[in-house]
Amino acid sequence: MSAFYREKVLSVRHWTDTLFSFTATRNSGFRFQNGQFAMIGLEVDGRPLLRAYSMASANHEDELEFFSIKVADGPLTSKLQKIREGDTILVGRKATGTLISNNLIPGKRLLLLSTGTGLAPFASLIKDPDVYERFETIVLVHGCRQVSELAYGEELVARLHDDELFGPLLSEKLVYYPTVTREPFRNRGRITDLITSGQLFGDIGLPPLDLGARLWRRQPRRARSFCDREGVCGAVRFLSSRPCRLR
Ligand SMILES: Cc1cc2nc3c(=O)[nH]c(=O)nc-3n(C[C@H](O)[C@H](O)[C@H](O)COP(=O)(O)OP(=O)(O)OC[C@H]3O[C@@H](n4cnc5c(N)ncnc54)[C@H](O)[C@@H]3O)c2cc1C
Repeated sequence: MSAFYREKVLSVRHWTDTLFSFTATRNSGFRFQNGQFAMIGLEVDGRPLLRAYSMASANHEDELEFFSIKVADGPLTSKLQKIREGDTILVGRKATGTLISNNLIPGKRLLLLSTGTGLAPFASLIKDPDVYERFETIVLVHGCRQVSELAYGEELVARLHDDELFGPLLSEKLVYYPTVTREPFRNRGRITDLITSGQLFGDIGLPPLDLGARLWRRQPRRARSFCDREGVCGAVRFLSSRPCRLR
């Protein structure tokens, strides 16, 4: 048995000269949890060329969706960015990753902090009804350099707001906060700066971070249901620069 499913590309959408997304058929045997990733890629010169990719689609959807970077000289994405409807991609049979709703300890707020294509696993998670059960508020932050790079996330959130099932859940619980660093926009700045300065929470009208620290010391069991939780996905520089208070 091959280690990969061979899936057909169903659609490709180029968002900017560095970002694209695509959908593909999904083998009925391919199971995953929302927020997980798999090895995907292309057959090049008879050999698989694979990279880790988060599923941007949810596990209840029939098709797979991926949100991808285009690295000009990247071994995979220099080729992957040229795929068209009808082409074949390889999808590893085993999905993995711990950024899943089962691993989230319920709390008041879930902070999903992402930069660039780091939005992908959260695109899947915000289509998971279970996440809305576990948290009172879900704050989805997406940071990019340019406004045009926010388009995939903006459209995703708008589409979910129009959805019969998710519309009411999103209206009640999801706070979407896009921000850019290099152009004028309604929210500006790096995510880490916006959090440490308190501006992010001021802008969305929610109290600042509560990691339940004091409560942890006194009543650890009770603290679980009071804490903010965070999920972080994105560029290495962003991941390594998270403010200490988030850790
Ligand atoms: C768990 C996991 C999940 C991932 N999920 C995604 C995803 O959903 N979408 C996606 O596009 N990539 C994702 N990646 C990155 C992906 O695996 C590849 O690195 C990317 O597709 C580029 O492949 P490449 O062969 O063209 O270049 P590579 O040789 O893999 O990378 C070349 C260089 O490009 C830069 N780079 C690579 N990926 C990115 C990125 N996504 N954003 C910004 N800079 C990058 C890095 O500086 C890297 O050194 C994920 C990586 C991991 C570890």
